[in-house]
Amino acid sequence: MREYLKFYIDGQWVEPSGTKTWDVIDPATEEPSGRIALGEAEDVDRAAKAARRAFKTYSQTSREERVALLERVLVEFEKRIPDLEAAVSEEMGAPMWVSRDAQVVLPHNHLKIAIENLKTYEFEEDRGLSLVRMVPVGVCGLITPWNWPASTVMTKVVPALAVGCTLILKPSEYSPYSAQILTEVMEAAQVPAGVFNLVYGDGPTVGAELSRHPLIDMVSITGSTRAGAEVARNAAESVKRVHQELGGKSPNIILESADIEGAVDRGVKGLMFNTGQSCSAPSRMIAPQSKMEQVISAARKAASEVTVGAPSEDAYTGPVVNGNQWNRIQELIQSGIDEGATLVAGGVGRPEGYEKGYYVKPTVFANVTPEMSVAKEEIFGPVLVIQSYVDTEDAIELANDSDYGLAAYVQGGSIDEVREVGSRIPAGQVYLNGSGLDLIDFTVPFGGHKRSGNGREWGDFAFEAFLEPISLVGYNPSPTSE
Ligand code: NAD
Repeated sequence: MREYLKFYIDGQWVEPSGTKTWDVIDPATEEPSGRIALGEAEDVDRAAKAARRAFKTYSQTSREERVALLERVLVEFEKRIPDLEAAVSEEMGAPMWVSRDAQVVLPHNHLKIAIENLKTYEFEEDRGLSLVRMVPVGVCGLITPWNWPASTVMTKVVPALAVGCTLILKPSEYSPYSAQILTEVMEAAQVPAGVFNLVYGDGPTVGAELSRHPLIDMVSITGSTRAGAEVARNAAESVKRVHQELGGKSPNIILESADIEGAVDRGVKGLMFNTGQSCSAPSRMIAPQSKMEQVISAARKAASEVTVGAPSEDAYTGPVVNGNQWNRIQELIQSGIDEGATLVAGGVGRPEGYEKGYYVKPTVFANVTPEMSVAKEEIFGPVLVIQSYVDTEDAIELANDSDYGLAAYVQGGSIDEVREVGSRIPAGQVYLNGSGLDLIDFTVPFGGHKRSGNGREWGDFAFEAFLEPISLVGYNPSPTSE
């Protein structure tokens, strides 16, 4: 049993102000695997004051000092990779191979790329009469989800530290283990007191207080669109910058010219990866009506190859994160059946052989129409929907008929056609001829259009999110006449 009953504030592990605790449930067994303390507004206040004090000096550090600091973080991170892999699997049920090959690989890469970017990033721009200087935005409240727990923490913490911000992290209460290890990494790397603070807590208490607190200049959330909107509402009074990385329902257009079997197989397995719990997963396959029989049979075959097992067993999928998510996924599968979609694979209930654990049958629906709940809502489990199109214009229209715009996928035989179709989908990342597993570029911006969010992370765009310009007008006075 893990017990994390202290918060990290002002460079110390401190007792929480209250006595509330939270049992972390192992998704594979439904039994508690540990316990954390839950914070109150008072804990956020204490952390915000520490971060405010630290900002005075940390915001003035040189690029070289911050490169050295992030290099120390990298050394400490690399020592803890096996611990992080085990923690992610334990807290959110990711199969060990997913933790090893992806969950911990992403934050590792983001850290390495941030160090390289920081060495050359232009914080000043000469504009003739004026100098535009980019300065750290201030104290940041960072709120993260459970589905990519280490990665979503590091995609915020690292750029914030790189540009000179101080911060308070509130990880998801469902995934505190990796956050605890990352905090130990910051401590071991000697991040100065007050620069990095950790307060565990739930959304409505600690998350809401981070959004409201007057000493906090920016709040960045990765999570559901519901929580993102709530953060913005709470942040409005103090006019803080709000950065939102939110939900998705990403279309995957399979053009007539595509290798149908290959594209469908990639699409099914791309969605099922991480047990369907990725914000940018290709969750809506949009396939040609003329080839639907072939599409359905390829999807059925691909789903039958998606194995289910305990995180330690290295099956393709594990359990989903918690009982609420399991129930919600079951309701959505039932709604697909009730609303008339064709069940191609899976269905309601646990997979055979499981009586416990939040396991879901790898499920595929065909003949899904845009008004069905399964077409509109982010299911966040191993449930793929297939919609059919008549011609390419129809495919693009279906793809764009969504409140979300986080990612999109286009598969086809001609790269020119794939490029042309991909350019017409308003989404933060559009993957051309890939499932997202095989195509990953850590240097390009990641984030959402429409209700998938505001602002960008990854690469140098991540720095911009934490910077604010000061225009020093008259910095270069005109030469005086003799
Ligand atoms: P969630 O919205 O339930 O929780 C996310 C975080 O917000 C948690 O730390 C939670 O405690 C906090 N929170 C909840 N209510 C809050 C409130 N009222 N005020 C402040 N904070 C609050 O989401 P989740 O279930 O943890 O994660 C899954 C969601 O995250 C999915 O919708 C997924 O698409 C999204 N996501 C988006 C990205 C992205 O980069 N766009 C990446 C990963 C996950």
